Formats: sequence, C-alpha cells, structure tokens
Amino acid sequence: MSGPATIADDAIEPVAAASPHPATVELFDSREAVVGALTVQRALPQRTRRTVGAWCFLDHAGPVSSAEAGAGIGPHPHIGLQTVTWVLSGEFLHRDSLGSEQLIRPGELNLMTAGHGIVHAEERIGTSPTHIAQLWVAQPAATRDGAPAFEHHDDLPRVELDDAVATVLVGQLGDARSPARRDTDHVGADVALRGGATIPLRATDEHVIVPLEGVIEADGRAVGPARLAYFPPGRDEVELRAPDGARLLLLGGIPFEERILMWWNYVARTREEITEAHAAWTSRRDRFGIPPSKLSSIDVPPPPWARD
Ligand code: MN
Repeated sequence: MSGPATIADDAIEPVAAASPHPATVELFDSREAVVGALTVQRALPQRTRRTVGAWCFLDHAGPVSSAEAGAGIGPHPHIGLQTVTWVLSGEFLHRDSLGSEQLIRPGELNLMTAGHGIVHAEERIGTSPTHIAQLWVAQPAATRDGAPAFEHHDDLPRVELDDAVATVLVGQLGDARSPARRDTDHVGADVALRGGATIPLRATDEHVIVPLEGVIEADGRAVGPARLAYFPPGRDEVELRAPDGARLLLLGGIPFEERILMWWNYVARTREEITEAHAAWTSRRDRFGIPPSKLSSIDVPPPPWARD
C-alpha cells in the first residue's frame, strides 16, 4: 500500500536540536501520504534511515471516522516483504491469493509473507473509527523468493514494564516472546504507557519509537504525533515517560545488511526484479492470483526507469 507523498522530501530531514544526549537519539518527522481514502503518517522509510532492523515501512493512519476512512484497499501485489497489520480501532477483512479470509480486530496481528509473490485486499468492516498501523519487514535473501504465507495471532504475549504494558507483535521484549514468524532478528511491540517505564533494549539492535497516541518523552526529548525517535545500537534500555498516558510502537533489530530497493508494493534488490513484478501484475500473469473482493484491483504506471 503506497501513495504519493504530499510534502517535499525536505520535510523528512532529521531535526537538529539541542539535546542532552545528542549521540544517542535522532528525531525524525513522518511525512503525509495518501493510501486509498486514508491520509497516513509515513514514519518509514526516512531518507537517511531506510530501515530499522529489517523494518522498512510504517504507515500510521487515524483515528478517523468510518465515513472518512473509505472502504479499504483493493487487491494489490507484494513481493519480498512481510506485511504486519496492527489495529487500534476498527475491523478489517483480509483476503489473499492463498485463499486466506481473516477478520482482524484491535489487539490482533495479521502477518503476511509475500516471498515470490502474493496479492491481498483489506476491506473495512463496520462503523468503528479507523486507527491502524501498517508495517513491512524486508525479507532476507534466504526467504525473499520463497513461498508466500499468511498467519493470524489473536493471543499475543504481554509484559508489564514499570508503568507500561507491552504487547509483543514479533520477536521478544523482556520475558515475552511472540509466536509470529520471523525471518530476521527483529522485534516489534505496542507499548501502552500509564506513566514512566524503563524499556529493555538489546544493545546489538537499532530501535525506533513511534507514537500512536499522546506525547512521549524519550531520553528527555518530547516525541509527539507524526514524529519518531531513532536509537542506534549500543543501548540496553530507554527511559520513556508519558504523564498523561500514551501508546507507541517500539521497533528494532539487527541492522539489515542487504541493500534493498523499494518501489510501490515491492521490496527487491534490483530494478529488473521490480520491472518483472510490475509486468506480471499488469498483465495478470499467474505469478499473482487475485482473491475475491468487493473492491477493485489496484494498478499503477510502470516504475520511472521503465517508462518510455
Ligand atoms: Mn498491502
């Protein structure tokens, strides 16, 4: 799911500001983009931080009313990535070309592995406000051309950390380990802060903190809506505070060593791979089956390097 950015790339430069920990935290702005009917805050990729661990994409949308949220996203293809869908409010029906049909509700995880190719649709259900995060994880060489897969988790582990409770989507935080598939060594957690908490980090990993609700103080720096804080490897904890309560995503992982190329819904290594995927989708060749959906399939023009 990808739409045109609506603000200049200049707006995604890291913000220089006085900091008591200048070497330990970098703040970035999300940029606004449009996906279907939804305006989203695109936190990743950043121009100077393309990936955090294997996390390569994060859109945060809402909360908006069901009238504003639109009907969802029609069938569209992916290659070389996992989609991680996390819902704070609203219900969606996932359908994919493997035949999966899965309702997702708040607190549940949909994890779709594209590998060589998959197509999915996400139809919005009901009248609740929409508040969601859509993330992608780049697949490593070992699995990125492999079989597609889909899994759903409605009983994710939780861990209490001082005045916070974390739900672990992927990987491990504290004593809690998610059952979700992982092809690289990465972690993703939803952290609900009631006050202050010391969050354990793995010093081998880089991390980001992305607010979903409220304003968080991280290492004494305010991180509000449409902002994110990046922490390089070498940290074994971070102090978070939110006197008024807040909710955030914590993402981390071993820095991803493979150089990726992202265009539209594809994560690849070369332009040729993306050109080939685009041609297969456009011609509806059998690499990409189309799941049944009340929504129309999505097409885009060829990538810029393949235009006449
Ligand atoms: Mn998608």
